[in-house]
Amino acid sequence: MKTTQRDELATIKIAGWQKLSLIDYPGKMAAVIFLAGCNMRCYYCHNRQLLDVHQNQLPFMEVLAELRRRTGWLDAVVVSGGEPTVSPVLIPILNALRELGLLVKLDTNGTQPEIVRRVIENGLVDYVALDVKAPVAKHVAITGTPIEQVLKTVRFLKSQKHVPYMLRTTVSPLLNEEDLQEIGAKIIHGANCWQIQQCRIKNAYSSEKIKAMAINLKTHALDIVVKGV
Ligand code: SF4
Repeated sequence: MKTTQRDELATIKIAGWQKLSLIDYPGKMAAVIFLAGCNMRCYYCHNRQLLDVHQNQLPFMEVLAELRRRTGWLDAVVVSGGEPTVSPVLIPILNALRELGLLVKLDTNGTQPEIVRRVIENGLVDYVALDVKAPVAKHVAITGTPIEQVLKTVRFLKSQKHVPYMLRTTVSPLLNEEDLQEIGAKIIHGANCWQIQQCRIKNAYSSEKIKAMAINLKTHALDIVVKGV
């Protein structure tokens, strides 16, 4: 690692990390890094403490050193949030993780298509998971942001062949079966993988209901995964 890169990394703080996850990188043992700060305001957000960038207080170099010690048995690192693509330190973090030789996955809300394009085309990630949280008509109500940039990111992921990707939809109580069909038909259709996730709030749909809904979505992606039920 060059001195200038080391100096830059020494200034970086992250919100926290999970030393081992078996569910965040498909088929891999992964650590998960959390970067605070997000440009969405999903009404069901279960990571509200990560919306505030001031939560980034843990020196990244400490985590990097720990990850380096674990490279023998860890397969991957997931960079999550918050929303990592709005963080000015995402690229230096990805560059540093690349040097560990571990697989790297990016979790994103899709609002920064150019960042997603850049990290993929520069070979900085091996897998991308992108949230598609609502159909066009309900996107602002559910996330507080317009959907156009998310749609651009979806189109880019579908069009590229560099890395595998997963589109994910959290089934909030504000979505009904018609909404899911609309997301499937108008946004997901033709994707490799669509993950349907249970929402972690009161009044969320039951596990049985989520599974039943997912059965009717099978025509929209090559693979439908149901998580959290
Ligand atoms: S995109 Fe994720 S972190 Fe941001 S508000 Fe929505 S659920 Fe919370």
